[in-house]
Amino acid sequence: MSIKTVGVIGSGPSGATLASLLTLKGVEVTLFDDGRRPDLVVGESLIPAVIPVLRKLGIEERAAAICQHKPGVTFTLDEKEKIEFCFQSLAGTSMPTYAYNAPRPAFDELLDARASELGVKRVLTRAKIERVGADGLKLAEETLAQAPWLNGKQPDLLVDAAGRVRLFAHALEIPAETGPRKDVAHFAHYEGFAENEPRGQVIIGRLADGWSWRIPLPGRLSVGVVINKDAAAKLGVTPEERLEAAIARDPVLSAAGKNRRRLTGVTTYTNYQLVSTRGYGPGWAMAGDAFGFVDPMLSPGIHLALHSAELLSENLDNLKAYSDEMRHLIRAWMWLIKYFYDGRIFSMYVSGMRFERAFPGKITDAMHVWCNGKIACMAAGATTKSKFGWGMLEIMSRPAGWMTDPKTLAIR
Ligand SMILES: Cc1cc2nc3c(=O)[nH]c(=O)nc-3n(C[C@H](O)[C@H](O)[C@H](O)COP(=O)(O)OP(=O)(O)OC[C@H]3O[C@@H](n4cnc5c(N)ncnc54)[C@H](O)[C@@H]3O)c2cc1C
Repeated sequence: MSIKTVGVIGSGPSGATLASLLTLKGVEVTLFDDGRRPDLVVGESLIPAVIPVLRKLGIEERAAAICQHKPGVTFTLDEKEKIEFCFQSLAGTSMPTYAYNAPRPAFDELLDARASELGVKRVLTRAKIERVGADGLKLAEETLAQAPWLNGKQPDLLVDAAGRVRLFAHALEIPAETGPRKDVAHFAHYEGFAENEPRGQVIIGRLADGWSWRIPLPGRLSVGVVINKDAAAKLGVTPEERLEAAIARDPVLSAAGKNRRRLTGVTTYTNYQLVSTRGYGPGWAMAGDAFGFVDPMLSPGIHLALHSAELLSENLDNLKAYSDEMRHLIRAWMWLIKYFYDGRIFSMYVSGMRFERAFPGKITDAMHVWCNGKIACMAAGATTKSKFGWGMLEIMSRPAGWMTDPKTLAIR
């Protein structure tokens, strides 16, 4: 392996995981982190595909101790219709049949602590980089000087794991492909909401102008709304007013939260559907959100962050292979998420439920379980790239669309 030293910028989930995995392979890693850990960070709902990486790092038990066990996800379409996905459908695959909901600061600290335990060298600083020629990058002298063990020598590889600030992309003027949605997300932690059923289940709710999340965490519930920017502006001036108004006007959320008490301030995220048009170059690569973030609805963010670290650690000498695989994965998630936003998945379910009521019996029951299992596997990260899964959705959604127009169930 020609790469012996790596500088990783950012110790969020992607950076800390990459630093640990590379150290386990004998690479000398310097991790530059600015130490910023806000109390409230999105990325609390994890999918089963995260767990194999936690196991590889040897920290699943410690993660379980700080997280809430998550059996699956329920989508509420309105006050009457809901669709339940249970990760138990993954039984018989190589994927775990559960996931976790993670209090992000504690989860990030765990990944960060593991990197330190494994011997990653760290520098507490807001790292600066400089462009070299058309396509190269280096650590600024003042940043390099803070890692005296590098003896003034630039690392063989620099990795941007600094998240949505897209440090390298800005330095090299690499554009991003943006997604179709122009949403704003407001979220906070609450107590007093009705408990999600079954315990730990994440609930995604369809709203008049977007969708909401309810993510159970130890001792609290994370509640967020993701709304079209123009619609959000009409709900109030401050993020607090908008979040409260969005909850109050939705029958499902307001019923569940009639005794709610907000425990934190309200945090806001905008413009997050961004994928860099390039993910690597000579002596540099991007990981996690710095490479690309798809959309939060199916919670692929931490999985993509941890998996990009895993893929990069396995492809240090073939950055193109790493980047191609990441693009493939990101495209697969975008494709799956589109099925949810444009209503085709919901139309399949509503049509399927109508069919079951009209023709009850073992065959329709078996079809329901089979379809549910296949979609749960894709949304769990187990078969997101599966051509069979893609084909199945394409074929099943057409007749379903004749019975129930997907547009009537789309997320606006
Ligand atoms: C509204 C919304 C909801 C979401 N919900 C979910 C969810 O439920 N589940 C899920 O899996 N994902 C979710 N995500 C996505 C998830 O939060 C991200 O994908 C994930 O945090 C990416 O991790 P990362 O390590 O790449 O970046 P980050 O978590 O952003 O970490 C980057 C780190 O780098 C540090 N840093 C930045 N610049 C520098 C610098 N110059 N020098 C040193 N350090 C630096 C930062 O302080 C930070 O600690 C959501 C995203 C959004 C926008």
